[in-house]
Amino acid sequence: MTDYQHYFGETHNLVRETVRKFVAREIRPFVDDWEEHGEFPRELYGKAGDAGILGIGYPEEYGGSGGDIFVKIASSEELMRCGSAGVVAGLGSLDISIPPILALGTEEQKFRFVPPVLKGEKISALGITEPDAGSDVANIRTRASRRDDHYRVNGSKMFITSGARADQLTCAVRTGGEGSRGISLLVIPSQAPGYAVSKKLRKMGWWASDTAQIFLEECRVPVENLLGREGQGFYGIMENFQNERLQLSVMANMTSQMALEESLRYAKEREAFGRALSGFQVTRHRLADMATLVEASREFVYRVAARIGAGENQVKEISMAKNFACTVSDRVTFDAVQIHGGAGYMREYLVERLYRDNRILSIGGGTQEIMKEIIAKMMLE
Ligand SMILES: Cc1cc2nc3c(=O)[nH]c(=O)nc-3n(C[C@H](O)[C@H](O)[C@H](O)COP(=O)(O)OP(=O)(O)OC[C@H]3O[C@@H](n4cnc5c(N)ncnc54)[C@H](O)[C@@H]3O)c2cc1C
Repeated sequence: MTDYQHYFGETHNLVRETVRKFVAREIRPFVDDWEEHGEFPRELYGKAGDAGILGIGYPEEYGGSGGDIFVKIASSEELMRCGSAGVVAGLGSLDISIPPILALGTEEQKFRFVPPVLKGEKISALGITEPDAGSDVANIRTRASRRDDHYRVNGSKMFITSGARADQLTCAVRTGGEGSRGISLLVIPSQAPGYAVSKKLRKMGWWASDTAQIFLEECRVPVENLLGREGQGFYGIMENFQNERLQLSVMANMTSQMALEESLRYAKEREAFGRALSGFQVTRHRLADMATLVEASREFVYRVAARIGAGENQVKEISMAKNFACTVSDRVTFDAVQIHGGAGYMREYLVERLYRDNRILSIGGGTQEIMKEIIAKMMLE
């Protein structure tokens, strides 16, 4: 992607190269098997940690390698090249669960919870969604009641990425009254008494990532694991969403990019009625439309990222960018399967997986409808 020099410089290219080599060596050769088995090996976290990949974009004092927002984007883009968004989501569950610790935690908490995860020794997950509260985050019911030096937590968390094998869960709990002000964040170790995990949930896509329900029954969590003050949790969750929405936008754009590349290749190779598919005007125009949308979406997401990186409030814009990138990836993955015909419905072809994996992007991290609510609210109020 040399045509994006105004966003990416030498450092970013070095990071890109490191991740590219890691993907080629440690993921690509095995990824189809992992997808079929519904899991990638736990050791991959350690390998990614040793290669410095998990720490990209995180402060050096906690074991990261620092860097600006485009360092993280370069890394995410190259990881997506492995062809399994499930692997990326599983390895990346730290990217949604560690930032709240860095934003709200004390120095002691940061040193306790962050370095082992960036080294790949521990797996970290984020627990916000519940069986009865997804989009309506302010309505979560999992309750944490303080008893002397610990909290007793009761409730359950739903659809948690890396939930089946996480060692620690950055978890939204209700410590106060109703609504957003009653919410706090606790880091709950999976070893805590009263912490239990469901079987892995079976999914449409992201097969290589584990997704689980977590049950908390009289779960005992030390008060030292409260992030910030009681009642600050909602703020931590909302801050985190901006970062998660950017990551999902990047995933959507890479999904589109790969679907386009696969389609271009196939359209040139495959023949029908005595000529290549690329000879039919309908295919050529479809490819032209796909490429135009991918280009526009990538540029939009980079622009919003640059503004986030400059410290600007981009809540409305990142909601727009996520929706736009996901609308594009919905369309482009649909068209990519169409161009592939029956082959596009077969597992041997990457576009089949891209199509399935893509579906979650406009649901996770805030649905398309919730993004529109945010955009409308910010324009109208
Ligand atoms: C594979 C996968 C991985 C996930 N990983 C995690 C994770 O790691 N951690 C975590 O906490 N969660 C995770 N989630 C949960 C995800 O964030 C939620 O599924 C998502 O926020 C939507 O919540 P919901 O499923 O409860 O849907 P609901 O909130 O029940 O929404 C159902 C439908 O109603 C619409 N709707 C709801 N409210 C409104 C409204 N006010 N206006 C208009 N329409 C509305 C929604 O847009 C949607 O179309 C994951 C989900 C999946 C499938």
